[in-house]
Amino acid sequence: MKTEIYRQLDREHHLHPFTDYKALAEEGSRIVTRAEGVYIHDSEGHRILDGMAGLWCVNLGYGREELVEAASEQMRQLPYYNSFFKSTHPPAVKLAETLCRLAPAHMNHVFFTGSGSEANDTVLRMVRRFWALEGKPDKQWIISRENAYHGSTVAGMSLGGMAPMHAQGGPTVPKIAHVRQPYWFGEGRDSEPEAFGRECAAALEARIHELGEENVAAFIAEPVQGAGGAVIPPASYWPAVRDVLARYDILLVVDEVICGFGRLGEWFGSQHYGLEPDLMPVAKGLSSGYLPIGGVLVGDRVADTLIERGGEFFHGFTYSGHPACAAVALKNLELMQAEAIVERVRDDIGPYLAKRWATLGEHPLVGEARSLGMVGALELVADKAAARRFPKSLGVGNLCRDICFDLGLVMRSVGDTMMISPPLVITRDEVDELVRLAGEALDETARRLAGRESV
Ligand code: PMP
Repeated sequence: MKTEIYRQLDREHHLHPFTDYKALAEEGSRIVTRAEGVYIHDSEGHRILDGMAGLWCVNLGYGREELVEAASEQMRQLPYYNSFFKSTHPPAVKLAETLCRLAPAHMNHVFFTGSGSEANDTVLRMVRRFWALEGKPDKQWIISRENAYHGSTVAGMSLGGMAPMHAQGGPTVPKIAHVRQPYWFGEGRDSEPEAFGRECAAALEARIHELGEENVAAFIAEPVQGAGGAVIPPASYWPAVRDVLARYDILLVVDEVICGFGRLGEWFGSQHYGLEPDLMPVAKGLSSGYLPIGGVLVGDRVADTLIERGGEFFHGFTYSGHPACAAVALKNLELMQAEAIVERVRDDIGPYLAKRWATLGEHPLVGEARSLGMVGALELVADKAAARRFPKSLGVGNLCRDICFDLGLVMRSVGDTMMISPPLVITRDEVDELVRLAGEALDETARRLAGRESV
């Protein structure tokens, strides 16, 4: 079919996620038709370096035949069966065992879901159920952070801290509080980064006092906030949060949907920051995005209570542990181990990206260039010396993102923060290309802005 026909049918029938429908109808969609390695191709013949690994998920890159084989073999053998009613099947069992072996030692159970959002719905219900079984039914409050992203279902968006999402389709789930995020460039530049990291941890402690420890069930956070702008916390933040949590009996939920499976150079972001979570929602990189699957890794404290105190947990999904998705995830984890992907991020390609990405910090439009493992961000500013932002109305981030696409690079923008999260298998040459294209996009953005008076 011709591009224009796809575009027209898309406009007429397809409501996209997180989209302004009127604007999209005017501009038209990009039709992505195929992909290999770190490149996607569109219907107009463009080859585009996918600096976002799809949506932070195609960790092994596109075109891995082994994953295709794993799916088709499993679909021939057993395309579907559920894990309700005392049933299970080999791919779900093997995946559960493998995941628990890779996870921190105290995490020995997993609850499967179809996505990261469903994983966080599961988290919400599981932590409240845990405390009820412990005889503390008042422990219901969950503390999250402003600008966090935990999914788009009702529980996911309520746990998340995105004000525009809360404003649509509410009210949100009760008894969820949000504390300040450790976003130094965006909100903390009155203090030194390390002092700011401690201030954010102190805000968590203050909120625990306000709500009363006896009412607080859990604290949930991403190791590095992804959708909120690739927010890498100051080094002081996680140790200070750890200290706070050690003083109270509150569960720690670390959302590993983006940071899990090697993105920060460890199997889980928790390991990078030395955290011992009670629960870890996962998804995305679990299957490199080839098929939809998520889950919640459950630490022994919570699992023991759920199992020993008994009673049915009234929760689950038709596709919990779907055989084909589980088979692909299992193969994905096998390949990651065989190819030492996590070690490569930690010791080789992560440090290389860090070195190359930092050079973009010299660009006049960039107030900060930061990265960790295979996540990076650029803060676009109007005045580099004063690190002054552009007026929001200029939409500079989106302008830069569109220029990137035209030049052959996917970078995502949130406000005026540009983000990358490329496949973990990206080569050094491809990193060089990514950085070169990002630099050209910054030049072109600066050129287009130069003429505008309000800058
Ligand atoms: N948690 C985090 C940290 C995420 O980044 C996302 C997705 N971007 C989710 C949860 C939700 O995952 P899904 O889109 O698979 O529902």
